[in-house]
Amino acid sequence: MDLATVLLLHKSSFIVGALCFFYMRWRSREPGLDLLAVGDCLLAFASTLAGLGEQGSLPREIWTFGSFSVGVTGYALMAVGIIRLSGRRRKFSDWLLVTAALALSVLVGVTHWYLDNQMRAAIFNANSSVFLALSSAAILVGFLRDRLPGRIGLAASLMAAMTFSALVVLGVVFPEYGPIAPRNAFFMLIICHFSVALFVVVLVQERAEAKLSRLANTDALTGIPNRQNFLASLPHQLKHGDGFIMIDIDHFKSVNDRHGHEVGDAVLVGVAQTIAAAAGGKLLLGRLGGEEFALFLRDQTEETLFAAADDVRRKIKALAFVVDAGTVRPTASAGVALWSDECDATRLRDRADQALYRAKRGGRDRVEMYAAPAAAPLPSVAAVVAF
Ligand code: GH3
Ligand code: MG
Ligand code: MG
Repeated sequence: MDLATVLLLHKSSFIVGALCFFYMRWRSREPGLDLLAVGDCLLAFASTLAGLGEQGSLPREIWTFGSFSVGVTGYALMAVGIIRLSGRRRKFSDWLLVTAALALSVLVGVTHWYLDNQMRAAIFNANSSVFLALSSAAILVGFLRDRLPGRIGLAASLMAAMTFSALVVLGVVFPEYGPIAPRNAFFMLIICHFSVALFVVVLVQERAEAKLSRLANTDALTGIPNRQNFLASLPHQLKHGDGFIMIDIDHFKSVNDRHGHEVGDAVLVGVAQTIAAAAGGKLLLGRLGGEEFALFLRDQTEETLFAAADDVRRKIKALAFVVDAGTVRPTASAGVALWSDECDATRLRDRADQALYRAKRGGRDRVEMYAAPAAAPLPSVAAVVAF
């Protein structure tokens, strides 16, 4: 492949990247995409300067220094963009990378190293590999948090780009020993740039999907799993030791009526958080609707299931919400049912509901255990005979 084609491809890889990032930024508002787009624009510009210089259309002083300084700044902006995209909040220290790139440009300008092709290529690519290494490290650290597979592709693309940049440096500094001809390494770098753009798009898409799934499965007010999520998470087959706890806030309507819906919402959030804290991440829980919550537990006995429900009831009773018109102290009733006689999840939940109904009728702020209705007595022999 001749140099003109390689330079054209090089420039195209940045233009494609910039277009992707601008588009994704417009659609998703994910952080960092704007910096990535501007970084790629600068790199496309630097590549154009180098191309014009190679054709002899620009004075040597201009295109060599111009492509170097604009290029290193472009890589610095890309690195800051990737670090932000990875999930780090805006930090002033991010701009240190751009400051370092500008300082390097000043150094290379003052020393006139940019006029020496070998020196310029070596410094430029060494600097790029450092920025690419920082970018891929940021993406990998973020993987520990969200496990999005697109991060692996993006980190691999950045690491490959880092490796080929380093190989260009080796090829330039040790022309006889370089493991790959600089031109080939340069070509591979172009492929990596396309791949970086692709995986940024994949990562942004995966994030959007994860966010949608979170929204679809989480109750918007309380932040705990919603009804569909809770029901879908239940095991298909129940077994010995499985149990349900149904919890309903007592006289909640009067909280709304007396103090308004906003206070009612705050009480709901507080109660949900209390139940979630009691569940401790080990149990399945959900807001089934209104002011009704459910817990599903495994490996229980009647005693432990009852004790767990009573613990939640007591913790809810200990809550106090100070409002303008006094203090709201919610209480809740709970019904519990332990799996028996091969019933399915729906039946078991119904049983816990029946127990909850009994707790309400029994005076509220209490826990009731489901009790199977007593079997109807068999008709006596006398009755049968009489019939
Ligand atoms: P009981 O002790 O019998 O359970 O009485 P209750 O008043 O709690 O029961 P009821 O079913 O009559 O009222 C439930 C109330 O919950 C009615 C509704 O206005 C309120 N509610 C349901 N969802 C929300 C919500 O998201 N926010 C607020 N603030 N109130 C809600
Ligand atoms: Mg209620
Ligand atoms: Mg209710």
